[in-house]
Formats: sequence, C-alpha cells, structure tokens
Amino acid sequence: MRKKVIAGNWKMYKSLSEVKTFASEFKDMVTAIDDREIVICPPFIHIRTLVELFAGSPVKIGGQNLFWEDEGAFTAEISGPMLKSAGASYVIIGHSERRQYFCETDETVNKRLFAALKSGLMPIVCIGETLNQRESGSTFNVIDTQVKNGLKGLAGGDVLRLVVAYEPVWAIGTGKTATPEIAQEVHSYIRSILSDMFGSEASGSIPILYGGSVKPENIDMLMAQKDIDGALVGGASLKADSFVRIVKYRS
Ligand code: PEP
Repeated sequence: MRKKVIAGNWKMYKSLSEVKTFASEFKDMVTAIDDREIVICPPFIHIRTLVELFAGSPVKIGGQNLFWEDEGAFTAEISGPMLKSAGASYVIIGHSERRQYFCETDETVNKRLFAALKSGLMPIVCIGETLNQRESGSTFNVIDTQVKNGLKGLAGGDVLRLVVAYEPVWAIGTGKTATPEIAQEVHSYIRSILSDMFGSEASGSIPILYGGSVKPENIDMLMAQKDIDGALVGGASLKADSFVRIVKYRS
C-alpha cells in the first residue's frame, strides 16, 4: 500500500510566538497517528524550533525550497546539507509560487531534486497547470512536460523516495478546489507517466498528493480517490484545528 502524506506549506506566515502556539495545540492531537506521514514546511527560520517542539511526535518538518549547491557565495540561499542538519526530512521543490515569482523552471526543479536526494531529504516535487493552460486544453501536455523534465535522470532507489504534488495553479489560495473527479483524472495521468518512466511497480508506490484549497470540508472526498495519496495544504494548515481535521481525514 502507498504511503499517505499530509503536508502543510506555511509559505511566508507565522512569527516565532505563533509557531509555538501552533505546536502546543497540534502536538497532543496527533501523537497517536502512525499510519500516515504528517509534514509541516515552515519558513526556514522556524525549522529548528519546530523540530525541537515536535520531538517525540510523528510530525516531520520540511523546507519550502533548497538551492542545488551545498555551500558557497549564494546570498540568502539554503542548501540541502543545511536543511538536513537543522533536522528537516522533506523539502518542497518547484512550488507554483516559486515558478511564478522566482523564475523557477523544470530545469532548476531537476537540479534541486538531485540536491535534495543527495542530502537525504524526501523531495515533494510540485507540478500543475495554470487557468489559461487548462482552458486552452493543454493540461495534459503541461503535466507531461513538467514530470518528464523535472524528474529527468531519476533512477533506482531514488525513485522510491519521491513524492509528487499535483497543484493546479488556479486552485491555489483561490478557494476553488478541483473536483475529486478532475483531480483523480490528472493523478491517474501522472501515474501513467511515472509508470512509463520508472515501471509500474515503482510508479505504484510513489505518493501523489493533491494541493489547491484543501480544507476540512473537502479532504475526505479527495482522499477517497484511487490515485490521491495525500494533500499539500497551504492556508488550512495554518490553524491547528483545521490542519488536524485534514490530517485525520476519513475515507
Ligand atoms: C499550497 O500552498 O501549496 C496550497 C495548495 O495552498 P492553498 O491550500 O492555500 O490553496
């Protein structure tokens, strides 16, 4: 059975005191969960604090990005070894906000992917079409290109450490969730590309998360879909009670 992963992307939100309040509310509510991965990806500055606050709990911490060099004169960048040494286990790569505002491309996604794997981090590689692309009928072409170029060169045991997140750009932060049927259609297509690239056995074990206005009200329907193995959650992961309900989805 595929691993289920519920990951929160905190983007550029939360002060230190808000982080502490969240952790004190959230930790006790998830202590007994052992059948799914729970991941929180805060701004870099809070990673170490959260690793310490969630010690002894099932909650894992991730970065929201990484640079592909290990170290050097790259002002404001963060490397894989730095994330790892701070206690992170996951890292988000190629989020649509990074692609839109920070010029990330499938090529840089690919470099970051290998940097993450080299550092022992689990990469969550984000892909997804814009509204224009969906309306012009090019969703599947866009997904095909993003998967093939973003994951180029991936092989062997590294394939089994991959997590993919399908996040239709038109659904991120807009309140417009893809219907479970639309999401399932694209997830199933992504799995077929992964199967062509890595074989059916490996593709069958890669978690594909859905992201885009996931909320307590829609998580159960999404998780009931055959190829949806979890969620990448922005806004609704910022409050402990709503994120707990998403983590404790029922399907
Ligand atoms: C995200 O940031 O990856 C995301 C899906 O955001 P939201 O849940 O707020 O749409």
